[in-house]
Amino acid sequence: ATPISMTVAMGQGAHAGILFRNAEAIERMREIDTVVVDKTGTLTLGRPTLTDFAVEGMEQDEAVALVAGVEQRSEHPIAHAIAEAAKARGLNLPTPENFEAINGLGVKADVGGKRVLVGSRDFLMLHGVDTQSWHHRVEDWRAQAKTVVFFAVNEIAAGIAAVADPVKEGTSEAIAVLKHLDVRVVMLTGDSRRTADVIARYLGIDEVLAEVLPADKADHVKRLQAEGHKVAMAGDGINDAPALAQADVGIAMGTGTDVAMESAGVTLVKGDLRGIERAVALSRATMRNIR
Ligand code: ADP
Ligand code: MG
Repeated sequence: ATPISMTVAMGQGAHAGILFRNAEAIERMREIDTVVVDKTGTLTLGRPTLTDFAVEGMEQDEAVALVAGVEQRSEHPIAHAIAEAAKARGLNLPTPENFEAINGLGVKADVGGKRVLVGSRDFLMLHGVDTQSWHHRVEDWRAQAKTVVFFAVNEIAAGIAAVADPVKEGTSEAIAVLKHLDVRVVMLTGDSRRTADVIARYLGIDEVLAEVLPADKADHVKRLQAEGHKVAMAGDGINDAPALAQADVGIAMGTGTDVAMESAGVTLVKGDLRGIERAVALSRATMRNIR
């Protein structure tokens, strides 16, 4: 590889908001046949808002305050959405005790003498809470591409909340161009199969790995590599930093965490997914010039 063509490619990339770490990142990008894309914060903006809330056995505002009281201690985007909604309603949030966050599952705490759980259906099931009575409404909200979280009070399912996280502009276009370049696109998410499938269909993504725990994301990348694929992983570093590191090329969103950008081969400055397809095209063109 001639140093000059690499320098030119890096300059062209930078101009388009695509930062290659080094020449090796450009070389590796050329070999990529599979792009794994994290959903939250990568395909979507990562700034969900609360859209629906349903509760049984207590007043709605009391329940929102209880759930937000726990979530105010969490860094998760879903937690922010719920805490913001509670503030907008002018609710006073109770102070949680014995707060605990379980990565990729949910949060729990004691609030005003009550044991409160907030998280995925699996999270509540792990605590022996049956969520079956909410099934129909959950499916209904998921069909609208919303992410649903469950909450329980003293081990009894008490309600559900839905948040919506808009898809980033240009994402469908980016997916279409990647497919046109013969790159396989796979969505990876901790969210439910139903919600993930609805968003994937909307974006034209044919393969979905859903309900994946943060600790298992890197294993999915490893498995694809073991099948003989050259894999790029795009993510924001929230929950997916090990997967970014495992990939042949890690693609960090410039809007994500510093850890992601520090370890990634490519950073998309504005988090614009069209940068992936441009990076692939640029690397292929550069390597053609060299040979
Ligand atoms: P993603 O892969 O979309 O970034 P996560 O792995 O962060 O998702 O979370 C997976 C699921 O775990 C969420 O969809 C939600 O059901 C649940 N969860 C995780 N953290 C929280 C939280 N703080 N509050 C409520 N639910 C949570
Ligand atoms: Mg994410």
